[in-house]
Amino acid sequence: MTGLLDRHLAVVTGSGSGIGRAIALGYAKQGAQVVALDIDGDSAAETVKAISRSGGKAHSFTLDVRERDRCRDVAAQIELKIGQISILVNNAGINRRNAFTAEPQAVITDWQDILAINLNGVFNVTHAFLAQLRATKGRIINIASIQSFMHVRTPNSPAYTTSKHGVLGFTRALAAELGKDGVRVNAIGPGFIETPLNEKVRATNPDLVRIFLEHTPLGRAGKPEDIAGPAIFLASDLSGFVTGSIIMADGGYRVV
Ligand code: NAP
Repeated sequence: MTGLLDRHLAVVTGSGSGIGRAIALGYAKQGAQVVALDIDGDSAAETVKAISRSGGKAHSFTLDVRERDRCRDVAAQIELKIGQISILVNNAGINRRNAFTAEPQAVITDWQDILAINLNGVFNVTHAFLAQLRATKGRIINIASIQSFMHVRTPNSPAYTTSKHGVLGFTRALAAELGKDGVRVNAIGPGFIETPLNEKVRATNPDLVRIFLEHTPLGRAGKPEDIAGPAIFLASDLSGFVTGSIIMADGGYRVV
């Protein structure tokens, strides 16, 4: 059986865990060769092992998306050793739920850290791989959020909401600019997905889970695998006329 992503080389940032790992595994199942990148190189290597066990081909590199020069270095190494990438998933991200009125130092630290990873990190990695993606007429998929549109009614930080609005704006700006090069740029807006990112809050704050589920017509939290399908669609030729869009994979959160 042929896969939807045969002959593609895909890079997924933050793919040692959660949504990124599910996307990496999903891409490999569809025939793509995968490069797993993560700040935790061991977790990225675990993703590679899981792909290899299921018969796929993958590689891993340690990469902190905050480090612009290292992003360029890793992009160059991948091009030299493996080939030019045709799919980039900007997935690495963090969240901390301090309100703007919280203790000032926490608010300042959150603002710096969240924007450095969730927004500047997307810039750093995309810029590093730009030449490869233009050469392959590639596809860029940015992981956005419900919070690309709104500040959710649960404890959440303004820095996270700002970063995810920025990710959607960046997606649209690049789609407009890179369309002439045949590069498509889209986003995915996950709802509440059970991953290590929100493990602590799920364990300690059942009210938050309840509030989310009350706003989710499908009546359940998402699994990382729920994001893999939209990510495969956006990376494949099935979405050949789709660019500058966001697919919400949120169980319907925004309709109620
Ligand atoms: P996750 O399980 O924590 O995975 C995020 C991965 O990114 C981790 O492996 C993490 O490594 C890595 N990472 C963190 N900082 C990094 C950096 N500076 N450079 C490279 N990698 C870094 O979280 P997730 O829920 O799958 O989140 C993935 C994306 O989905 C994020 O952009 C998040 O904002 C978005 N999202 C998640 C949800 C949700 O409900 N889970 C909803 C909407 C959007 P460490 O674990 O070692 O820090």
